[in-house]
Amino acid sequence: MTMINAGDNVDPLEVRKFDKLASRWWDPEGEFKPLHRLNPVRIGYVAERAVIAGSRCLDIGCGGGLLTEGLAQLGADVTGIDMAGGPLTVARMHQEISGLEGIRYLESSAEQLALDEAGLYDTVTCMEVLEHVPDPASLVAACRQLVKPGGNIFLSTINRNPKSFLMAIVGAEYVLGMLPRSTHEYARFIKPSELRRWSLQAGLHFRHLCGMTYSPFSGDFALSDDVDVNYLMHLSAPE
Ligand code: SAH
Repeated sequence: MTMINAGDNVDPLEVRKFDKLASRWWDPEGEFKPLHRLNPVRIGYVAERAVIAGSRCLDIGCGGGLLTEGLAQLGADVTGIDMAGGPLTVARMHQEISGLEGIRYLESSAEQLALDEAGLYDTVTCMEVLEHVPDPASLVAACRQLVKPGGNIFLSTINRNPKSFLMAIVGAEYVLGMLPRSTHEYARFIKPSELRRWSLQAGLHFRHLCGMTYSPFSGDFALSDDVDVNYLMHLSAPE
């Protein structure tokens, strides 16, 4: 069993980075443009593989609430948690603008929430967060604690290989300027085999692995078999 890092699985420098940019979160052409482009693709994936309407969802590392709102729009009761206060403020303001009910935002780590709300969620999402925490295996184990028996977990992150270095760092941060420089650190990228191993160690069942491939021509992402750069993993808890 993976050890849970109860209070300190947070990198303050990473959290500060997101705090500083918080006001830009909902600008579809701003610093978070890649998340805006990824959003419909990953929501489609989740909706295809889990029943979201009427379910209770947890979005870990929710930031300004792009995915959280997407899940609420599908009819879920959603809790969004993050360790950065700025993005959470923006998320709450945007929820007002969207007029969406059924969202609760909390400043908490997954490990902390797991102490109070273990086994409460039908679906847990943690997207584009694992590559920003010191101990991603502990975060996966916390996801496992938070989900109900038989519930679903959807994770997304960036693979670690020369192609992902070129695409996600050189391309996205330096050539296309889609992301601010130093958004990502290559050494923190995660291979699907590593994520799968941590998930199995946490007692989860592996369900599916899927790529999200960026097309520089359309500027959009699409689901694909190519997991070399951005990818999604679907896991489930035993009944
Ligand atoms: N999941 C959102 C935001 C991704 S950006 C989306 O895909 O749209 C990464 C987010 O993870 C930031 O909001 C950052 O503050 C948050 N984060 C970083 N470390 C964290 C931690 N240890 N626990 C919870 N959130 C964290």
